[in-house]
Amino acid sequence: VSDLPPSDLNQKIRVCVRKRPLSKKDLERAEKDIINTIGTRSIQINEPKLKLDLSKYIEQHTFTFDDVFDAEANNLSVYERTALPLVRYIFQGGKATCFAYGQTGSGKTFTMLDPRHGLYVLAARDIFAFLRKPENQHLSAWIGLYEIYQGQLYDLLNNRKKLFAREDGKQNVIIMGLKEFPIDNVDKLVQVFAYGNQIRSTGSTGANDSSSRSHAVLQILLKPKKNKKLIHGKLSFIDLAGSERGADRGESDTKTRMEGAEINKSLLALKECIRALDQDKRHTPFRQSKLTQVLKDSFVGKSRTCMIATISPGGTNSEHTLNTLRYADRVK
Ligand code: ADP
Ligand code: MG
Repeated sequence: VSDLPPSDLNQKIRVCVRKRPLSKKDLERAEKDIINTIGTRSIQINEPKLKLDLSKYIEQHTFTFDDVFDAEANNLSVYERTALPLVRYIFQGGKATCFAYGQTGSGKTFTMLDPRHGLYVLAARDIFAFLRKPENQHLSAWIGLYEIYQGQLYDLLNNRKKLFAREDGKQNVIIMGLKEFPIDNVDKLVQVFAYGNQIRSTGSTGANDSSSRSHAVLQILLKPKKNKKLIHGKLSFIDLAGSERGADRGESDTKTRMEGAEINKSLLALKECIRALDQDKRHTPFRQSKLTQVLKDSFVGKSRTCMIATISPGGTNSEHTLNTLRYADRVK
């Protein structure tokens, strides 16, 4: 597995895994790093296990993906092999989606939405640079930001106004009333995003961990300057709800249980839809969740998808990490 050729950056679906470094907190707790990357495409997890007599042993699992990023990889090197090909693609009139999937604390937000070097910022830099080229003078960029919580859509750039999606008969999903703002530089984009993101993190419930219980969707649209109703290209960055939220944890609290069931449903539907893309299936179960319903137009037709599964290195997370690797493996 160590000398696989690099995977094609222009595939319809790419699935990558990123391992974050052990944090200060991990080190204080003397967490062991149980993840090894092998070459640029394989990853191994050494799962600590107990026998019936309580003696310990290690079960090793190896997976191969389009790319694996080790703890030392920075966001720029991740960007170049994940979102950058998608940025090029939307200028060719495509629709593209970049997902971060993983357990809470594994690095989804750091990877996608960090205000200094998150993938969306790096993408925006290139988008504005490409927009300055003579052949793209007729286009401009717009952003929208919403979250999907408990199967409902909320506009994060408009006071969490509840939104409804419908289809226009031409395979486009329209999110009715979603506020879209024209943006012409990176600083402005980061500012507008930060405003909306702050609304997300406090959320409707006031709980500060609400970001792990909703999916956030940042969309960057390219529209002709002369007709703002048309969409030339669309790139969505999706910071998914914490994957552990979808696991059946025997929750006693009804609300938490319902949230978990909804998240589980949407993450399963997402996996099924992405798999169906690759297999050219006639029936794709978009309707099974709000997440896949609103993403439908980014999946059908001229579209590309990149999934970045983020994982924590520590032994105490082994179960969630293995679940994440298995999920990503199934998507491919
Ligand atoms: P998630 O969004 O999946 O819950 P975060 O992105 O908030 O996780 O990451 C959890 C913590 O780990 C944050 O403090 C973040 O800065 C840090 N972190 C995550 N990934 C990396 C990385 N690749 N390098 C350095 N720090 C990271
Ligand atoms: Mg997060």
